Amino acid sequence: MAKPLELTGRVFGHLTVIKRVENNKHGRTMWLCQCDCTKYTTVEGAKLVNHTTISCGHVHKGLKAAFKAQQEKRIDGVQTYLYSGKLTPSNKTGVKGVSLVKYKDTVRFRAQITVRGIRHDLGTYDRITEAMEARRKGEEELIPRE
Ligand SMILES: [Zn+2]
Repeated sequence: MAKPLELTGRVFGHLTVIKRVENNKHGRTMWLCQCDCTKYTTVEGAKLVNHTTISCGHVHKGLKAAFKAQQEKRIDGVQTYLYSGKLTPSNKTGVKGVSLVKYKDTVRFRAQITVRGIRHDLGTYDRITEAMEARRKGEEELIPRE
């Protein structure tokens, strides 16, 4: 049997993985996660990794769709040649251009964009969705179009 991925400590959307728990009845690897709204939830590993589940359920469906669109956008060929579509190892959010920053006891999300070697700081937000929105706007404003 394949060794399950180690997800402890990783962040997927609003969820921070706390620890692995017993497999579900289908034999799938399950993880206990804490949502940034403080609720705990148990999520299937695959659903975390492919961003099907990004919160305890408090996130509105529309935002979830926006999140998925954001994920897909980075492999959309038109603009990606201007900036790297790869996530850097320090990026723990799974969202390109949005990184996790810790201030004392709280976790915030910083949006950044690098265009032609120049890094632009797009602000720091309490919610990943706000940082994603800032990043999206940054792409619109800062990435030159042909
Ligand atoms: Zn939540």
